Amino acid sequence: RKCVVVITGASSGLGLATAKALSETGQCHVIMACRNFLKAEMAAKSAGIPKENYTVMHLDLASLESVRQFVDTFRRSGMPLDVLVCNAAVYLPTAKEPSYSAEGFELSVGTNHLGHFLLARLLLDDLKKSDYPSKRLIIVGSITGNTNTLAGNVPPKANLGDLRGLVGGLNDLNSSPMIDGGEFDGAKAYKDSKVCNMLTMQEFHRRYHEETGITFASLYPGCIAETGLFRNHIPLFRTLFPPFQKYITKGYVSEEEAGKRLAQVVSDPSLTKSGVYWSWNKNSSSFENQLSKEASNADKASKLWETSEKLVGLA
Ligand code: NDP
Repeated sequence: RKCVVVITGASSGLGLATAKALSETGQCHVIMACRNFLKAEMAAKSAGIPKENYTVMHLDLASLESVRQFVDTFRRSGMPLDVLVCNAAVYLPTAKEPSYSAEGFELSVGTNHLGHFLLARLLLDDLKKSDYPSKRLIIVGSITGNTNTLAGNVPPKANLGDLRGLVGGLNDLNSSPMIDGGEFDGAKAYKDSKVCNMLTMQEFHRRYHEETGITFASLYPGCIAETGLFRNHIPLFRTLFPPFQKYITKGYVSEEEAGKRLAQVVSDPSLTKSGVYWSWNKNSSSFENQLSKEASNADKASKLWETSEKLVGLA
């Protein structure tokens, strides 16, 4: 049978390119888990993904209620779950004031981390039940959260501190909209959320890999400078960023190439090692990359896990 892969945020950018690459293998059925149903349908159509290779299901990660509903809808479809890809993200670098998710969490961390945390925790049971030989849970990371790299050292740097803002509920009422308890900064909130994604992947690996055999992995597919992720940035940035990445940092990668990379992490038989953060070198070969000190801190990962459980209502 075909491998069933759920991809969040498959309506544009990396998620859509990955859905297309997986569809082209002829061995996958992609569940496009998207907040905008019509946009997702149209995106699949214009990418030329054959109808029998995908299903669109509604998921708004900025609402925990919607996450639970998605899990219900998916289960009622009767399909098995073989691979889950947590890909969707928002990036609000120019926001002066925080915005909030349905439950009142700062929107970047609320969507990118807490929504995915609940989704992945609930769907772990479904992954366990699948009889597919190579089950995987993949969370898209980023270089920007890794302060051991040049890109990760561009201010404001990611820093979760002692998680006091998250413990306080990630809003201005009780504490702060930022995980470390500091002043709101949209660019930092995104980077922090990516550190959470990478920590979550490793905590899943420590808690569940041996028992379940599921592969837990993260990746940095390269700088895909033209995706919708930068839609909220100032126009000058959007004009200059792609050539800067192409010719100066040479970190640029096309959506198509990035999609192929993520599709490898989903289905390549040689990328089954668990607990790995994958990256690609200039020749487009994958390698196991090092995470920064903070993004590989096991105590922080465990505290993040427990705090997040409380916020999403699992504990
Ligand atoms: P895009 O903005 O093109 O795609 C993001 C996707 O997430 C869209 O489909 C968007 O939906 C979806 N999304 C946003 N909010 C929600 C929500 N509340 N519920 C459900 N879906 C939502 O960006 P990219 O393709 O660049 O980003 C994909 C991933 O790649 C992210 O995790 C990002 O951090 C990561 N990444 C990107 C890099 C880059 O250079 N672009 C580099 C490294 C990592 P909609 O279409 O409705 O807006």
